[in-house]
Amino acid sequence: MSSIVLFGPPGAGKGTQAERMIDATGLPQVSTGDMLRAAVKAGTQTGLEAKGFMEAGLLVPDSVIIDLIKERIQEPDAKNGVMFDGFPRTIPQAEALEQITGVTHVIAIEVPDERIVERICGRYSCGACGNVYHDTFNPVPAGGCTCGNWEEKRRADDNEETVSSRLAAYHEQTSPLADWYRSKGIFHPVNGDRAIDDITGDILNALRL
Ligand code: ADP
Ligand code: ADP
Repeated sequence: MSSIVLFGPPGAGKGTQAERMIDATGLPQVSTGDMLRAAVKAGTQTGLEAKGFMEAGLLVPDSVIIDLIKERIQEPDAKNGVMFDGFPRTIPQAEALEQITGVTHVIAIEVPDERIVERICGRYSCGACGNVYHDTFNPVPAGGCTCGNWEEKRRADDNEETVSSRLAAYHEQTSPLADWYRSKGIFHPVNGDRAIDDITGDILNALRL
């Protein structure tokens, strides 16, 4: 079993790229953010524990995240590996991941901080299928989402106030993982400040697909 990690700041385009690579990689997208939002909506114990951290733009405690991943990786669709999106976000999470499954590639989508606010504040998605769109850079087609069931959804934490806390958390707690993975020889940076399709091409090259 071999998995891929999509790494980068909030709004870098991890989810957007994961969506486009499901067919090419044959691996499902595993987004801890999506899993946490589902848990909050369902009012589970995990959701109750995570909610306040998410609203404040802070990282949810490692133990909560690691338990979620351990459970998710048992699902039948994960038997050949997964594409992690937004996980790991701390060194303890990466250490736990080493015990759970192998990672062959860490794809780091690099986007400067000054681009992040516009990316996040213009983000919306299809409530029916999860496809991600942007007011300016990637608007939903005139006829609605490609899934055929359009329902516009915006995240409560996608606002300017929360973005600065989320970026601070990224720089303090998540970015040290870049060196950690570089030292393991599986770190592949790609320039994420370009057209969506060009970035997909670079990632597929890095994965030799
Ligand atoms: P992440 O999963 O890393 O938080 P998303 O994939 O949700 O990021 O992308 C954040 C926002 O930026 C979305 O609205 C998305 O449509 C938009 N976006 C993604 N990639 C690009 C790109 N290369 N150029 C411009 N906008 C992008
Ligand atoms: P983005 O890519 O825009 O930062 P995510 O959907 O990945 O958004 O995450 C939303 C929020 O969920 C984060 O701000 C954080 O509170 C929480 N979260 C998601 N993944 C993790 C993780 N691996 N570790 C800790 N907190 C997480």
